[in-house]
Amino acid sequence: MTTPQPSQFRDHANTPFDRVRDTYRLNHEGQTLDFVLAKKRDYAPLKRARLGVWDALLKLEGFIDNSDPDTESSQVTHALQTAEAMRADGQPDWFVLTGLVHDLGKMLCLFGEPQWAVVGDTFPVGCDFAEEIIYHEYFANNPDRKDPRMGSQNGIYESGCGLDAVHMSWGHDEYLYMVLKNYLPEAASYVIRYHSFYPAHTNGAYTHLMNDRDRQMFEWVRKFNPYDLYSKSPDPLKIEPLLPHYRKLVDDHLPPILDW
Ligand code: FE
Ligand code: FE
Repeated sequence: MTTPQPSQFRDHANTPFDRVRDTYRLNHEGQTLDFVLAKKRDYAPLKRARLGVWDALLKLEGFIDNSDPDTESSQVTHALQTAEAMRADGQPDWFVLTGLVHDLGKMLCLFGEPQWAVVGDTFPVGCDFAEEIIYHEYFANNPDRKDPRMGSQNGIYESGCGLDAVHMSWGHDEYLYMVLKNYLPEAASYVIRYHSFYPAHTNGAYTHLMNDRDRQMFEWVRKFNPYDLYSKSPDPLKIEPLLPHYRKLVDDHLPPILDW
């Protein structure tokens, strides 16, 4: 397989798909502080489903992420391509497992959430929307723009408060963090929670809200990102031979049934 070059990815300027732009338009108009708080309250009890990791992965087979200009292959393929790239680099088991499961929060779509509330880059709500956020112009219609409490760099937060105290736009990152946080090492939970926070991990925004723990943990988020991004390939992946290895990896680290 020819290795794709980094510049070929996240090519939003040349993407022919309106599905990407329209997903971001709805996202930027709809992600308000109230919306996020309501979704967190709604999903926090984890009473939607009881499923193991494999059943969740299989349910996502065929789901196409409308915010992603790079791939139209299935989520199972993306999960295994990410994990395989990590395994090939000799990353530790817990980190490879993180790669395998990182997008399982897209289960939200199967619970009826529209894609704009599931996928795409994430960002804090309750404060200024940083210029570094993709399709920034669509925030013009976000109702929070009219709320003076949220109209500054810190908004409702204290400078240096740490991201744990910050409400992120609602989507598959925060949701899967809720589902898995009691089972995985701290760095794995952190990577899952912030892997779509491109404005921070790739563009360097929002450092004023971070604390020392965030700065430490973002090393893992940055280490993870290339595997998520550059492992995408249209080449078919032979899934069957990989299953025994990954079944064992999941069994070794996670309970057979998870609350969703
Ligand atoms: Fe993701
Ligand atoms: Fe991903």
